[in-house]
Order: sequence, then C-alpha cells, then structure tokens
Amino acid sequence: LIDTLASQAAVAVERTSLVGDIQKARLDAETERLRAALLSSLSHDLRTPLVSILGAATSLYTYDETLKPAQRLDLVQTIQDEAERLNRFVQNLLDMTRISSGALRPKADWVDLADVVGAAAERARRILRRHRLRLDLEPGLPLLRADPVLLEQVFFNLIDNACKYSPKDTTVTVWARRQDGRVVAEVCDRGRGIPEADRERVFDMFYRVQGGDGQAAGTGLGLAISRAIVEAHGGTIEARSGLHDAGTCIVIALPAEPPPTLPD
Ligand code: ADP
Repeated sequence: LIDTLASQAAVAVERTSLVGDIQKARLDAETERLRAALLSSLSHDLRTPLVSILGAATSLYTYDETLKPAQRLDLVQTIQDEAERLNRFVQNLLDMTRISSGALRPKADWVDLADVVGAAAERARRILRRHRLRLDLEPGLPLLRADPVLLEQVFFNLIDNACKYSPKDTTVTVWARRQDGRVVAEVCDRGRGIPEADRERVFDMFYRVQGGDGQAAGTGLGLAISRAIVEAHGGTIEARSGLHDAGTCIVIALPAEPPPTLPD
C-alpha cells in the first residue's frame, strides 16, 4: 500500500510540476508577446511624429529659396504640432509610470467634482466639433479628497475618447451621483461600445480594440493613465456597455470622505 501511495504521490508531484512548467511556459510566452507588442507600439508612436518632423525640416532646409511664405509656415506648423504630440506622449508615459510606481502622489485637496468635470468639459469643448456634451450632475455632491489637476485629466481623457469612438452629431453625457458613501460618475457615448472580451484589457497600456473607428488618433495610454489616477485616489474605474442606451459608459467610483467637523 505504501508503495502504491508513494508512486501515486510521485505521479501527482510530476503532474503538478508538469502543469507548473506548462503554465510557466504559457506565462513566459504571454509576457514575451506583450513585450513585443509594447515595443512595436512604442516605436510606432515615437516614430510617426518624428518622421513628420524630419520630413518638414528637410523640406525647409532643401527648398528654402523656393518656398512661399505660406508653405514655409505650413512646414513650421507641422514641426510644432508633431513635436507637441511627441511631448504629450512622453509626458503621458512619465506620468503613468510615476503614478503606478507611487512616485507621483496625488494632492489631497477638497474638491468639488462639478468644478473638475466643468473644467474638463470646457477643455473638451475646444476640440469637440461634431458632438453635443451634456452634464447631468446631481446637485450638492459631497466634496472629494482629490488632486483636481489629475482628476480633470481623467475626465478629459474619457470625454475625448467618447467623442473619438462615437458617431458625429451624437451626445456624450457625463452623469454623477452620490451612492453608498461614494461619488459615482459615468461618461457615456452613443458609439459602438467595447466588446465584452476587451472591456478589462482596454485599461492595459497600449491595448487598443482591433478594427475600431478613430484608431489613428490614439496611443492606447489614456485609459491606463486614467485607471492609475483613479486607483491612486482609492477609487475604481470600469467600462460597461448598454447602460442608459449608451454605447460605452466608463464608470468611476470615488470615496467621498466626510469633511472634518470644525470646532464651533
Ligand atoms: P487610445 O484612445 O489612445 O487608443 P485609450 O487607452 O484611451 O487609448 O483607449 C484604449 C482603447 O479602448 C481604444 O483604442 C479603443 O479601442 C477603446 N475605447 C476607449 N474608449 C472607448 C469608447 N468610449 N468607445 C469605444 N471604444 C473605446
């Protein structure tokens, strides 16, 4: 009996280590695939603006004598726009790594979400061309302990995405209400939504849904940064579809601490 048990145990151990090996091999392959995807995406995002800058600079240098002032201005404008894009991209990457490593600690001011959403909406309105933006915020929301600049960035990212991934002339709505000691906000659009299988992965760095609209416009960092910021505030963020007849709703829940009671 002891022999049988011992050999069964040996087989079980072998199987377990085999399963372990297979799992490890799978994990290694997945990590390798992710690393390759990350590198290729990163190189693409860095190279695209660089190629435009180089092209414009070369034209300026080569055809300097023959260029009309308007053409020269166009080329200089391209250099400036693309350099700004590159700068934003690198800044986003830095912010993202600093926030997730805990190096960038959000400020903890008392913040009114209505002000933050209002400021993000104002910024977004400057770039919105063909979308209507509706704010539906419950009056008297409790104040949040938050970093207003970082939170504004989150709402700006979400409104920007909602417009990028939904048809022109549709409405993007930002809702906010108080719920179980938290403030819950949603940014909803009338777009095609995010397939169930991608709803968690869209928060990974550089992950983008295959074959979607508006793909040329992004870098795959906005939602990853937004998640890092929201989590650094002790909140949660997730993507849903089919709420309020919407395509996509990104739902954020932030803890609403009661403000300290001041002595009379
Ligand atoms: P980017 O928009 O720069 O690609 P994000 O991290 O903001 O990067 O978003 C990741 C991906 O999630 C997008 O490429 C897009 O495929 C998908 N996505 C984000 N927001 C929406 C939305 N409101 N509707 C549909 N798809 C979305």
